Amino acid sequence: MEETSFLTLGEGLIIEQIIEEAHRFVALVRSTMPASCCPLCGDSSDFIHSQYQRQVADVPCGGRAIQLQLTVRRFSCHNSSCHRTIFTERLPHLVQPWAQMTKRLRASLSLLGFASCAQMAARLAPQLGMKGSASTILRLQRAAPEACPEPFTKIGLDDFAFRRGRTYGTLNVYLETHRLIEILPDRTVETVSAWLAAHPEIEVVSRDRASDYATAATLGASAAERGSFPRRSSMERTGSERSGTRRTKDCASGTKNRSGSRQRDPSGRTPGALSTNPPACVAGTLFQ
Ligand SMILES: [Zn+2]
Repeated sequence: MEETSFLTLGEGLIIEQIIEEAHRFVALVRSTMPASCCPLCGDSSDFIHSQYQRQVADVPCGGRAIQLQLTVRRFSCHNSSCHRTIFTERLPHLVQPWAQMTKRLRASLSLLGFASCAQMAARLAPQLGMKGSASTILRLQRAAPEACPEPFTKIGLDDFAFRRGRTYGTLNVYLETHRLIEILPDRTVETVSAWLAAHPEIEVVSRDRASDYATAATLGASAAERGSFPRRSSMERTGSERSGTRRTKDCASGTKNRSGSRQRDPSGRTPGALSTNPPACVAGTLFQ
């Protein structure tokens, strides 16, 4: 089969031949770059020491698996101060050193795992021309870069019980998307105010009527206004925001038990449920 352009591999790599087998294509690939850089010292070398074959799985084509048979060269490093005398050329845009699948196949399996789950992705992958065990897909998911957190300016604070009546934490929820931002290890004024002060971009805090969160919001806003946290310096606020005027409006909170009375923990607070649903009522506008 002739080389075609449907299987793009990036600059410096060419497909010498494509072999069609029963359930897959095998592409014979080699690099055309005249030299390569030593991964240890960075010096370029064009002295080829030897070469070997490397098998790498790639993304499928038409539902059929693609296997790349890479001809990888070893170069000699001429830097006398370098401890690496022989090194293997890197193909950073295609595959990581010692990996058995290309970067784009890793990304595809990882996305499949995120869209369903590792077990389901492992079952679906062969039907799409890919192959990967559940543990492999789970490992790829863990290694995937984290998505940039969405900016948030309106949050909800609510407490929940690690152990009801004993240990409580604080849920921070983005009000507009109802997504969990972070779980604080407790609900003390110090912890919550420090977190708020470190996030000066927050404009609105929704909370229950417990006084601790009100105090924490006030302290956090004051600390942010003083510019005591580095992130504050990168934020631009309007003149009215800098005044720090704070308005709050409270309403009833707490969960009802079967008899209709509200459940309170020994500290007099209302234990919240472990949920990403934001508190429905109280709103405290920090900067107006
Ligand atoms: Zn070197």
